[in-house]
Amino acid sequence: MSITDPARLTPISSLDEAERLFPERDLPSGAEVVRIAPSPTGFPHIGTAMQAVINAALARKSGGVFLLRIEDTDRARLVPGAEEAIHQALRWLGVVPDEGPGPGGAYGPYRQSERLSLYALAARSLVAGNLAYHCFCPAERLAAVREGQIRAGENPRYDRFCLGLKPEEVEARHRAGEKSVIRFRVPEGAEIVFRDEVRGDISFSSEALDDSILLKADGFPTYHLAVVVDDHFMRVTTVVRGEEWISSTPKHVLLYRAFGWKHPRFLHTVILRDEQRRKLSKRSGHISIRWFRSRGYLPEGFRNFLTRILWAHPGEKDVYDFSEFIELFSVQALPRTGPIVDLRLLDFINGKYLSRLSPAEMRRGFLAYLDFLDQPAEEQIAGLDFLPPPQARHALGQDLENDAAFAEQVFALEPERNRKFSDVFGNNGFFFPSAFTPAAPESLLRHCPDAGLARGILCALLEGEICRPSPEDWDAALRKVAEEFGVKPKALFMLLRLAVTGLEKTPPLHNILLVLGNELARKRVAGALASLPA
Ligand code: GLU
Repeated sequence: MSITDPARLTPISSLDEAERLFPERDLPSGAEVVRIAPSPTGFPHIGTAMQAVINAALARKSGGVFLLRIEDTDRARLVPGAEEAIHQALRWLGVVPDEGPGPGGAYGPYRQSERLSLYALAARSLVAGNLAYHCFCPAERLAAVREGQIRAGENPRYDRFCLGLKPEEVEARHRAGEKSVIRFRVPEGAEIVFRDEVRGDISFSSEALDDSILLKADGFPTYHLAVVVDDHFMRVTTVVRGEEWISSTPKHVLLYRAFGWKHPRFLHTVILRDEQRRKLSKRSGHISIRWFRSRGYLPEGFRNFLTRILWAHPGEKDVYDFSEFIELFSVQALPRTGPIVDLRLLDFINGKYLSRLSPAEMRRGFLAYLDFLDQPAEEQIAGLDFLPPPQARHALGQDLENDAAFAEQVFALEPERNRKFSDVFGNNGFFFPSAFTPAAPESLLRHCPDAGLARGILCALLEGEICRPSPEDWDAALRKVAEEFGVKPKALFMLLRLAVTGLEKTPPLHNILLVLGNELARKRVAGALASLPA
């Protein structure tokens, strides 16, 4: 039987047995067991990535374990393809879990839907201890109670209608086919204080807490029960998660108490914000990991960016290796206000990583990026219309395959111009036959309004060598032509630039011509000449 086989849990008959089956881990002191616990109810986003990076770094730093748990108990909201997208995103990001549904591990299974018997045992043990109770209230009754409470200006909460049911009564109703949920019995008048590793002590009164459902009628646990049972039996030492979960933590602390377990440390990270300082959300646009991949960021650059907005390098560096982050960061240095996902900073950092690639790596990386764009995905990303259509992308890919040496020469030219792979379309595309768009005659004539004169200049250029290896000779030859035709050198250079690139803004023209070579340059100049009105 494999270690992640769901059947592995079936024989467990008590929580004591589970304690023996999932013993304290044999790790050096100070080693952190941390986890990310995404729900496949949506596609992985930058928040998931941030949690993964912090957790993985904590585990690596302390010689501990980083695990992935899939919290798939909300069956109605499962999104097809979301779990696979989570695995893919982590692989891409280079923060691969030590344990999880993929690699397995001795504390699995790591999908909550495969651990149902354990949650049922846990919930029943609380009922047996009178720390939880069965509730048969139908949805209509709960809705009516809720409405009444809201009308009376009270906090909506369960009114404990079923709290007093005797065990015999519960059994009889079950026998009669009635279904129940199990609710936590929140202790009255309890003061819950827990320490957040970044924020310090946080206190809640139990009066603010509802008797939450722990086990649903379909046998699936709710988040609160499952998270506590799993963090306990997976022997998690620090729960690192987003601050939106702070209000759930007192419930969890009470559940740990009810089970008689020691709770892990808690650390709630701040919420990311967009450039308008709003909570980063779907409407901000850039949230999904797929969005970032579709723009062509490198995983190393993206990971560096995530750590950079969370933490300040002691040497004030923006660009550093992940291993440096692991070595130098401490959780106490994590911010208390939400960092801004500043795409200009991401571009800057990613550009540094891109410019470190050799031309051959750049070519391969760009081809891999084109492949990624082609892969079918369940997740649809809006705002990608700036990308060339698939056919044009394929044609460019073909050009890069056909002449690798030429492509590498192109990528060797001003590599720092590209901040992400999608920049290649605009910055380098014109070099390649498939992506070159000749300048419109009007653009050419804007710089030399007299069509006859423009034609004459282009003819003269065709008569000589358009490119010469020495920049001085080349410059002098062109200036001579400008002088002969009585135009400013600037106009002539612009005419030539437009003719060979189709663009007004490019890297230095001489460098471009060196890559294009005389033959291709002549072809393009001849094309421009033919496009001008007679
Ligand atoms: N399943 C929760 C989520 O989707 C995890 C919360 C936690 O880490 O405890 O974010």
